[in-house]
Amino acid sequence: MIKEGKISRRSFFNNSLAGIGSLPLASVFDKSHHFTRPLKVVCVGGHPDDPETGCGGTLAKFANAGHQVTIIYLTNGDAGIKGKKPVETAQIRTAEAINACKILNAKPVFAGQVDGSSVVDNVWYAKIQKLLEDENPDIVFTHWPVDSHKDHMAASILTQKACIQMGQKFPLYFFEVYTGSQTQNFHPTDYVDITETQQQKRKAVFCHASQGFVTDAFYQRFHGIMEDFRGISISVKGAEAFIKLTTAKSAVI
Ligand SMILES: [Zn+2]
Repeated sequence: MIKEGKISRRSFFNNSLAGIGSLPLASVFDKSHHFTRPLKVVCVGGHPDDPETGCGGTLAKFANAGHQVTIIYLTNGDAGIKGKKPVETAQIRTAEAINACKILNAKPVFAGQVDGSSVVDNVWYAKIQKLLEDENPDIVFTHWPVDSHKDHMAASILTQKACIQMGQKFPLYFFEVYTGSQTQNFHPTDYVDITETQQQKRKAVFCHASQGFVTDAFYQRFHGIMEDFRGISISVKGAEAFIKLTTAKSAVI
């Protein structure tokens, strides 16, 4: 959602969107870059809380700059609360995701897969492609596919395939979640300084109280430490890191 008054119509006039895929990700936020219209940014995550923890600071930065952000959650997180039934868990976690999206100024979309039982097949390749086509994105984010959680892997592979089927007309960036335990073998190509949106990101992540996000110590142990580490890499207080997909145009099969 665009915050009215945050960006003037005039400021979008000068530069076209052509070539956005050739820009380093961080340069999109360079004040010298103006676009002919707000960018459409889409993030596909496995569960409620993954997009927020993986790239919530970057998504907030896009939304705060007047761009349109959509978060697609592959599952409702219905296996994510011990002792609660899937239906009740899904209700709780969906509500948490909606609240988090309000803080990030993002539109939530729930693809409807089952947490822990994600499916990668022709039906779901087509469904995720349709969801992305509906958004007509300029930039897409998803999980890095080398990950210990199968739902993260599924979200990544379904999104990659949709990108290829759609003619690779937008840049695709992979984000990391809980690197070392979940994301593996992650060597960033791009960094975004999120110092200005770290608190906004934290507030969004804390909407996911069912996942233990109730203390700063918990956040710092699993996520703050990554922001610190990636920040050190580019000499800022906090950063998020990404790997850009840089394949040649692939054949559609
Ligand atoms: Zn997850």
